[in-house]
Amino acid sequence: MDAYEAKFGNLTILNYTCRMCKKSYALKVKTEDYTDYCNSGKLIQNCFPYLSAGERELIISGICDTCFTDMFKDEESEPEENMPESYEYPQQ
Ligand SMILES: [Zn+2]
Repeated sequence: MDAYEAKFGNLTILNYTCRMCKKSYALKVKTEDYTDYCNSGKLIQNCFPYLSAGERELIISGICDTCFTDMFKDEESEPEENMPESYEYPQQ
């Protein structure tokens, strides 16, 4: 994953680039939490309870909240009746 970390005292800045939109995100976590996450195998939500679900997703999968939401939106909003069995004329 395209990530680097920078330590500032007891804080660690994790920089992630979303692999979908290529935007960079900086997540500020406690260094001890990050060490714990890397070494203990604890669940990420237990290590970083102060991060949003989207921020944790970025750490886990490298996909930012925006892209992650988009992915699910596409999946759920695709009505099956609009999927042609045979073929489809171009709309434009
Ligand atoms: Zn993204």
